[in-house]
Amino acid sequence: MDRSLQGIPASPGVAVGDVHLLLWEVPEVPHRIVSDAEVPAEIERLGRAVERAKERLRHVRDRVEATVGKEEAAIFDVQYSILEDRALIERVEELVRQNLAAERAFDVEMLEWRQRFARHANPMMRERVNDLTDVHIRVLAILLNLPDHDPVDLPAGAKAVLVTHDLTPGLTVQLDRASIVGIATDAGTRTSHVAILARSLGLPAVVGLRTATEKIKGHERVILDGTKGLLVINPSEADVHRYRERAREEEVADAELQGLASLESVTADGVRITLRANVDLPEEAEVAAKTGAEGVGLMRTEFLVVGRTMMPDEDEQYDAYRRVVEAFAGHPVVIRTYDIGGDKLPVGGHPTEANPYLGWRAIRMCLDEPEIFKTQLRALLRASLHGDVRIMLPLVVSVAEVRAARALLGEARAELRARGVKLPDFLPLGVMIETPAAAIAADTLVKETSFFSIGTNDLVQYTLAVDRGNANMAQRFTALHPAVLRLIRRTVEVGTGGGLHVAVCGEMASHPLMAFALLGLGVRELSVNGRSIPLVKRVVRGVSIAKARDAAQRACDALTAEDAEAVLMTELRAAFGDAYFLREGLTAP
Ligand code: PEP
Ligand code: MG
Repeated sequence: MDRSLQGIPASPGVAVGDVHLLLWEVPEVPHRIVSDAEVPAEIERLGRAVERAKERLRHVRDRVEATVGKEEAAIFDVQYSILEDRALIERVEELVRQNLAAERAFDVEMLEWRQRFARHANPMMRERVNDLTDVHIRVLAILLNLPDHDPVDLPAGAKAVLVTHDLTPGLTVQLDRASIVGIATDAGTRTSHVAILARSLGLPAVVGLRTATEKIKGHERVILDGTKGLLVINPSEADVHRYRERAREEEVADAELQGLASLESVTADGVRITLRANVDLPEEAEVAAKTGAEGVGLMRTEFLVVGRTMMPDEDEQYDAYRRVVEAFAGHPVVIRTYDIGGDKLPVGGHPTEANPYLGWRAIRMCLDEPEIFKTQLRALLRASLHGDVRIMLPLVVSVAEVRAARALLGEARAELRARGVKLPDFLPLGVMIETPAAAIAADTLVKETSFFSIGTNDLVQYTLAVDRGNANMAQRFTALHPAVLRLIRRTVEVGTGGGLHVAVCGEMASHPLMAFALLGLGVRELSVNGRSIPLVKRVVRGVSIAKARDAAQRACDALTAEDAEAVLMTELRAAFGDAYFLREGLTAP
């Protein structure tokens, strides 16, 4: 049978391999009663299971510490400490004394704990639900004699495509590159932890497939296309051949593109375009610097919080920011303050708000939690002593937020001065334009900020009322809608008119056809994902601003996104003929 599932492209590249189905879910627990006489043996069985789970956690912890790092390994210390909690174990034993079988007693108690933590007012406590779930599954698997599904059980060289419902941080850090060639998940969005990690490991990944674990039995052959967000189950030989060809073509084209790294980013009619990199993890910075990026246009800082037990302290943050600043010596590095909440996992991972995208996230959360925010600002100020750091605020809708953030930046500065730290007098503070409010009222922001950076991922979502993480809505999610194009045009006009630099750092900038449209709309700074820098540079060098301006004008006037795409594509084909990167049409927002 030949079936394709469409999901959300999370990490580019193509992988062909056999499925390793990871069912890391809380198993069904049959209701079983034990007699009074059986109770002591049952309590002993519980104790042995808990000890075995602890032993396994110690083992996983040591391996993750050796292969990934100390911080990631700390996840397992937390899980270990849950099993060391006497109150938890005594309560489970108590339930066994009331004649529940050990697995049933453990299940009941863990469900209660998970619910209690999920409702906790403190976001860090809500985050513990992931660890409780991992512990819940691990102990039940032992008590029910189920196979141990840890992904690391795969032999090295297995070249498996991991298919699973969702990956908890505890599972993600165990992924072994030696045995896994790609990842596919039912849940998740482009910005969830698994997507970010897959990108940083260079593993192709598709998330948001919804029903992959239902449709797949395990061991089938699949093609995973992380660029287009496709999972092809039981492909024909011809399909595999076609995909391998494409992967080869992409490799050759990539190798050719690497040659562009040292060339100038300038259009055919001589206009300089600044190309910067988006960096999701500090480790990506050194690689991105080699692609010819002139600095970082968006460093996301959510990695500092995802899957963690505590907010990172000032020194840890300072080290991470400094690493990126030093990798790009002399070039600007735009670091975005926390964009936690919404689709970003850390605030519980299980949003307790009815509409998290419209809720307590990003700059709103930071202004309400000044100590958390100021710790980050102090680390940023200190990092600025090593290079050209610029601070960027996410999800701004009003100038009042910019003023409040600036006041806290002043306090952070004063706190450092009191500690004797010498700081530069000025640090640019810019805003992301990623809501219709910010774009339409850009004139209210322009005088109080140092730069604009358009976040098209959210701008599309909020303008079109299309959830960016909902796989059912993927076809409706397009930056070529006339409303989005006009908001971008307005932002550029207002920003440049007010003397500001206006960049685009959403995924739109990483896509050849969209990047062309942005040049035509007047954007002169693009911040793109590390892999796309050479490709976007090729587009820049092959087009003229005069042609791009004309095409963008017609795209803005088009009645539909499809018409806008056709206009832009015709121009690009005239410039690049049948280049492979135009063959797929639209694959990005
Ligand atoms: C955006 O919204 O376009 C953006 C760059 O930010 P993020 O994807 O992290 O929300
Ligand atoms: Mg955003």
